[in-house]
Amino acid sequence: MSRIAYVNGSYVPHANACIHIEDRGYQFADGIYEVWAVRAGKLLDSSGHFRRMGRSLGELRIATPMSDGALDVVLHEVVRKNRVRDGLVYLQITRGVAPRDHAFPKDIVPSIVITAKSMNVAEAERKAQKGIAVITVPDERWTRCDIKSVSLLPNILAKQSAVEQGAYEAWMVDEKGMVTEGSSSNAWIITEGDVLVTRNLSNDILGGITRERVLKLAAERQLSVEERAFSLKEARKAKEAFISSSINLVTPITHIDKQPVGDGKPGAMACALRKDYLQSAAT
Ligand code: PMP
Repeated sequence: MSRIAYVNGSYVPHANACIHIEDRGYQFADGIYEVWAVRAGKLLDSSGHFRRMGRSLGELRIATPMSDGALDVVLHEVVRKNRVRDGLVYLQITRGVAPRDHAFPKDIVPSIVITAKSMNVAEAERKAQKGIAVITVPDERWTRCDIKSVSLLPNILAKQSAVEQGAYEAWMVDEKGMVTEGSSSNAWIITEGDVLVTRNLSNDILGGITRERVLKLAAERQLSVEERAFSLKEARKAKEAFISSSINLVTPITHIDKQPVGDGKPGAMACALRKDYLQSAAT
């Protein structure tokens, strides 16, 4: 079955989907993106992703190309046309096409691209059951990490370091030795005193939609939660650690920089929160 992409108002074969060479996304990374997980054909945490998309566009002063309602129809149509039951749908909006000039061009029309792909859920579950390894790298990003911008060079370099060291994710560490987040996920630990800790929202991290959901689930479980910075030193002594993202949901960490977290096995609370997430998302 051939894949279909949505590009500026048309559904086109994925293999022929094109954007102009003077698109500002291509030339300046002048754009934003969103990723929704799809489970049983449903977009998870849909409204949260719409809210963040609107915020990212607002921060960059990129016009909203269509209403949330219309966009929702297109997202579902791309999912349907690609017969995605479990997977993800990717949206990218850039400022648009114009002769190259740093300043915003007048009357520019945003470019919009939507793609969807299937994911092997059984494999994702196996990965979660086994747990993942993370490495750490210096956080070399700019000071507006709260915007979900397509400018991801430090993130891809961090992820590449992880892959080269046989790990799945890289945690980024600021100049004070505090963990900010993963290259494409939020970072969590559970302390020896059973406190769930994740970095507080600020310009230093992306406000994960999964993070938001996990905080709600933790409250339902009446866990002690602290939204604050934690150091790499504290993470190394943690009882459990995990990442959260639309793609990975909640995935336990077994090793940080090759050192075991706790007993080196996926933590019980991380596994429970993943289950809670899947259950709550399915309703
Ligand atoms: N931080 C970064 C840097 C990310 O790229 C992502 C994934 N988009 C996240 C956190 C997690 O966000 P979400 O839960 O909304 O997928």
